[in-house]
Amino acid sequence: MTKVNQNICFDDVLEIVKTYIDKEDELACIQKAYLYAKEKHMGEIRLTGDDYINHPLNVAYILAKLSSDYQTICAGLLHDILENPANSKEELEEQFGNDITSLVEGITTINRLNFNGETDSKLASQRKILVGLTEDVRVIFIKLADRLHNMRTLWAIDSKSQKEKAKETLDILVPIAARLGMNQIKSELEDLCLRYSKPDVYFSIVEALNETKIERDKTVEKMIQEVQEILNENHIEYKIKGRSKSIYSIYKKMDKGKRFQDIYDLFAMRIYVNTESECYQVLGLIHSKFKPMPKRFKDYVANPKPNMYQSLHTTVFGIDGKLFEIQIRTYEMDAIAENGIASHWSYKENGSNVKANIQNAMEQKLQFFKTIMELRKEEDNDEDFVNSVKTDILKESIYVFTPKGDAIELPNGSTPIDFAYRVHSKVGDSMVGAIVNNQIVPLDYVLKDGDIINIKTNKSAIPSKEWMNIAYTQQAKNKIKAFFNKIDKEEYLKKGEEEIKAELRKRKISFNEFFTPENTEKILAETKCSNLDELYISIGNGKTTATLTLNIIQNNNDTKEEIILKKVTEREVKPVVIKDDIIVEGIDSLKVNVANCCQPIPGDHIVGYITKGNGISVHRMSCPNMEQVEERVISVHWNETVSKKYHTSLLIEAENTKNVLLDIISKTSSGEVIVDSINTLKRSGDTSLIEVTIRVSNLEKLTKFIHDLESLKHIITVERLIK
Ligand code: MN
Repeated sequence: MTKVNQNICFDDVLEIVKTYIDKEDELACIQKAYLYAKEKHMGEIRLTGDDYINHPLNVAYILAKLSSDYQTICAGLLHDILENPANSKEELEEQFGNDITSLVEGITTINRLNFNGETDSKLASQRKILVGLTEDVRVIFIKLADRLHNMRTLWAIDSKSQKEKAKETLDILVPIAARLGMNQIKSELEDLCLRYSKPDVYFSIVEALNETKIERDKTVEKMIQEVQEILNENHIEYKIKGRSKSIYSIYKKMDKGKRFQDIYDLFAMRIYVNTESECYQVLGLIHSKFKPMPKRFKDYVANPKPNMYQSLHTTVFGIDGKLFEIQIRTYEMDAIAENGIASHWSYKENGSNVKANIQNAMEQKLQFFKTIMELRKEEDNDEDFVNSVKTDILKESIYVFTPKGDAIELPNGSTPIDFAYRVHSKVGDSMVGAIVNNQIVPLDYVLKDGDIINIKTNKSAIPSKEWMNIAYTQQAKNKIKAFFNKIDKEEYLKKGEEEIKAELRKRKISFNEFFTPENTEKILAETKCSNLDELYISIGNGKTTATLTLNIIQNNNDTKEEIILKKVTEREVKPVVIKDDIIVEGIDSLKVNVANCCQPIPGDHIVGYITKGNGISVHRMSCPNMEQVEERVISVHWNETVSKKYHTSLLIEAENTKNVLLDIISKTSSGEVIVDSINTLKRSGDTSLIEVTIRVSNLEKLTKFIHDLESLKHIITVERLIK
């Protein structure tokens, strides 16, 4: 048992470290880190009343228990040094070198962000932790050790902070420990979290366990003896341990509606053997003596969990008819089961390669690592990224299988679409159907643990936008989105190229004459595009125009503002076809229009008005024209799959300056908002009223656009126009 809340001294750390590190210089470095940390923390006292050095010592002790390499142990000892601005990174580097310093810096960055603060910084720090995983997993080991010791000493802080820390630990650090296969740390963290977030539940379980302990110990002891007899008879070398279920796991089962009586009656033991084949042999022997409970046998030896966990699990009717959960594994499997990825230190090989080795093991063996990498590329804001990681990776997961028997881990709630995209984008993009356990299933079928899935594909098939609503994981949704973005891009590219060619024809100059290498370079530099395709795309999607582009070389005297305004005002306002975008309750195939007075867009609360002979007119809930209306009103709502852009108008009050129109247009450059027309309604003294009609896909994007406009210097107010 790990020493908990005892005074760990440096010799305790050293004693464990020496069991696996024998290099003198590495041991000396650890000693030096200890003395350095001790000196730097001299005089500091923790809230627990201990000298501060007690904390880094405990962190190092936890890391040593994981057989961490010497750099990690040193960084564990030094991890809080940079919290004090009086201590410099340069000095640390000078004393301990780059590797250790960058580990300390990594942990300092994560810790410095205020976890309990504003949503933004909280998400940012969670993102840092997750990304940190993919950079140097050792930083996360230190973070876990740091948090574990802080949780062990959580009694020292006030109860509100206790609950916050416990919640964050459960939200982020426990799932990470689980995904890294570090079950020992995970389990202790869970128990500590429960103790502080639901103390009454925690202590009632502890009490109930204590009351029945003697009796339960006796039962387990008796069963162990029975099992020992069979194994001895068959000359198998083994070790056997009674195992107590964690308080948190009992709580989870009670939370699912089980009675405490039924849970604590469940006994558990673990058998360790030398080889894989002995695992099966032991299983056979136990099953021949004790009747196994149907459907409870799990073979994680032949089918390891994606976090590398291996064991045989079975539940048998043991002595006195009591149920026993039995796990059988080799010692090697046990190291992985307890410490997961951390058991992959190859300290014996070459200290300097530890990072590469572990990182490599992660890449090869942990699917979730790949998923984080992918999400990291796709999601550029903290919130989307963290939320995606939470739904896709940190949620409770199921294991399903390819027809070849490869295990794939997916969050509970996933569909065949998620499975297909997890296997490969190409499989998802060309999917036409799914067969689960030899049965054809609809695409919204929710996968279950153990399902065998065969995805039917067709080279010429393409995804449907509807899948966005069916898919469960952010990863699949992103990939579907990417597919359609690519199609849009191709369209824009074609359109942009055509516009350039048309403009060149108008100016009577050939493509090659105009796009000389020099001119091309100048144009690309000016438009900030990296190649011509990119330029065509930005012309095609309206970020710039062919005229403006050619004017970079050959000015036709119009000012930039005039050209853009001309383009905008010449644009014809085409009505948006809204078929299927608005759902009218109880009625379909009725003509639906959006009202011109208040111009609702997706995201607005809307209401339908049944007109005389012209179908249903949809207004914003807040439209003054609907205020007095009581009859002929019908409930309507936006379809979730709306993807078209809708017209709506804004009324802007701005100072009279030359550039204000251009400023407004510049805020549409992201392409999320398209300006259809701009009219100056009136000018009075210093200010003007400007009506801008735009197309935008939803309220969120409109709100962002309005904020963008409000941030402009010369703009006074922006509001939605009601005619
Ligand atoms: Mn710390």
